[in-house]
Amino acid sequence: MKKYFVSQKIRTVSDRILNKFFPDYLGENFICPICQTGLSHFLPLSFYFLRELDKNQYIHSIFQNETLNIENYACPKCNSSDRDRLYALYFKKKIEKNRQYKVLDFAPAPSLGKFIKSFPNIEYRSADLFMDNVDDKVDISDMKIYPAEMFDIFVCSHVLEHILDDRKAMSELYRILSPHGWGIAMVPICLGLDEIYEDPNITDEGLRWKYFGQNDHLRMYSKQGFVGRLESVGFVVDQFGIDYFGEEVFSVNGIHPRSVLYTVHK
Ligand SMILES: [Zn+2]
Repeated sequence: MKKYFVSQKIRTVSDRILNKFFPDYLGENFICPICQTGLSHFLPLSFYFLRELDKNQYIHSIFQNETLNIENYACPKCNSSDRDRLYALYFKKKIEKNRQYKVLDFAPAPSLGKFIKSFPNIEYRSADLFMDNVDDKVDISDMKIYPAEMFDIFVCSHVLEHILDDRKAMSELYRILSPHGWGIAMVPICLGLDEIYEDPNITDEGLRWKYFGQNDHLRMYSKQGFVGRLESVGFVVDQFGIDYFGEEVFSVNGIHPRSVLYTVHK
């Protein structure tokens, strides 16, 4: 995970360095919905992931990951991932000008956070237990600092697979969400699995790469298992894929056709 963050950091240094290393990134094939830059290409998924999956004999195919654009992964300008761009597209569709929103963003991705904050009618808070520079240091499984129904929107992306008791975290997300609110709930999903595969005894980093796809993941979700677990705490789950956003929108924004956005409400 540390190495991953280092590689991501290198990518965010500055436009000047990006221009030096990726002089041909400006173009008209794609547009990043977060920084609005016209691009010839996005950057591929860091080779670090593929190498670690290969080295540790990952038991699934990475091509069975539901929302993952290996070829067009990161924006060379703002470093948004394909899933960040998917959420930005949804925000653009859903945010109404004449309403006020309180948004809570867990483990915030910098470019997406900046994008969400750019809506004048959004009051934004970021939260994480370990990250620096967040508004609230909070354990997602125990968020008593927030009253019930405090937030109109939450973003919980690629957090739950790191949490030992993910049902408790989901219950807390349910508690803090307003009755008319919605949340983005996303985890890595392997389409080749029928049920969630988890085993708290698997603590070895290599074995976690092998079975869960990353050294700090505690499970691999199946599609049905993830939806079922969210429903078990009371959420209604909606899924938005290429039929909702449109083929052209997915293609231009560097979203893989297999991608699906999961949102929840009460
Ligand atoms: Zn961008």
